[in-house]
Amino acid sequence: MGSLLTTAYSSESFRQQAHALVDLLADHLERAKTGREAVITYQEPDEQLAFWRQDFAQPVNANPLPLFEEMVRRSIHLHHPQFMGHQIAPPLPLAAITGLLTGLLNQGTGVYEMGMTANALERIVMQWLAGRLELGTDAGGLLTSGGTLANLTALLTARAVSAPTDVWGEGNTDRLAIMVSEEAHYCVDRAARIMGLGTDGIITIPVNDRFQMRTELLEPYWQEAKAKGLTVFAVVGSACSTSTGAYDNLTAIADFCETHSLWFHADGAHGGVAALSEKYKPLVRGIERADSIVVDFHKMMMIPALVTAVLYRRDADSYRTFQQKAQYLWADATTKDWFNSGKRTFECTKLMMSAKIYTVLRTYGEEIFTDYVETLYDLARRFARLLSQRPEFELAVEPESNIVCFRYVRTGLDDNELDQLNSHIRKQVLNDGRFYMVQTTLRGRVYLRVSLMNPLTTDEHLESLLNSLIV
Ligand SMILES: *Cc1c(COP(=O)(O)O)cnc(C)c1O
Repeated sequence: MGSLLTTAYSSESFRQQAHALVDLLADHLERAKTGREAVITYQEPDEQLAFWRQDFAQPVNANPLPLFEEMVRRSIHLHHPQFMGHQIAPPLPLAAITGLLTGLLNQGTGVYEMGMTANALERIVMQWLAGRLELGTDAGGLLTSGGTLANLTALLTARAVSAPTDVWGEGNTDRLAIMVSEEAHYCVDRAARIMGLGTDGIITIPVNDRFQMRTELLEPYWQEAKAKGLTVFAVVGSACSTSTGAYDNLTAIADFCETHSLWFHADGAHGGVAALSEKYKPLVRGIERADSIVVDFHKMMMIPALVTAVLYRRDADSYRTFQQKAQYLWADATTKDWFNSGKRTFECTKLMMSAKIYTVLRTYGEEIFTDYVETLYDLARRFARLLSQRPEFELAVEPESNIVCFRYVRTGLDDNELDQLNSHIRKQVLNDGRFYMVQTTLRGRVYLRVSLMNPLTTDEHLESLLNSLIV
């Protein structure tokens, strides 16, 4: 072995570098939390690329610390209380530390021996969450890399279990379809297209003025689909939707699915966690009747990305998703062994995701998740009240979750001018860097959108956001 590899694997230099990195990150965390650095120092993509290209052209440097510092500086800072943009949580430092451990151990997880602890912890964590969602004693699930892949996984299971034809073996012989709200996350549409359902196979149900699926339309749309020769096999409910954070009426969807023997999939990537709060549980009433549920741990559960649960009311269903044999991996490809996680996940090699969740649960207890969701959902309601008291702002809809959409209004401007003005405001906020929020399009109009992801955000921060927006 050359001396370079000897150095690279040196435990002493690992110790030194890791200590230095932890010091750097702890300092960053403190500065971010107290707002002593910008949320984001925005640079246009080409400028950013040019910087890193120039860096890449430098001679190698045995000390990675300056590089780490630059990466921190040139990233968006989620722990800053004025970060309120996209739905990624400021991760718990403990979960990030666990990430260092899982990185070094690098358990492949797909087969039992390559992730003995990882697989056992995954089983425990999934049964814990299935229990909190009240899915019953046959429930279980798996962890996968993100909500997008999780929704595709669940829909593949839905098709394997509920569709009348064997698509896995025969290919798409029938015209299969799913029904989904027009406000569903775009990944559901993408999943359906990957599955070969095509445009006709994605039946979008309009939403009401609160952006919830109009469940009274499920029956007529289903009849219409049938008349056109389509076979619907699943309905997807959003809990909540991404754009506005609206929860679909899951009980109504469950009733409909039961009547017609359809698979009920609940996309709880963002808001499934409401089940952990007595106060907000009514939002997800009916989720316990879903056949499958997706919950992102990197959104409302403070775990670093990516970690997503796919839960099944009947754990056994999950073994029908991929009916493949890989004899070099598993002695028996047909048995339902929970400990060979690759049998039912897209991933072959998979991150040791469960360790981060398990460590958080064992260190802080599940109350930390309850506290998080209640703090942020409460805050969103107070923010909505604040907005309604200020005539220069207009709320798109009363928030149900921690996502709030609103826009700046001014008399004398028409809708197009208001769109331009709000886009301009959003761009200014980005360039300014003291706050981070995004924009969305609702009913064809531009709205500003805030996801309150940081429990350190206070009413004062929100008040000063509004003050800073006035143009
Ligand atoms: C974020 C989100 C997704 C996608 O999840 P990723 O983890 O970003 O892939 C899917 N559905 C909903 C409702 C979401 O909010």
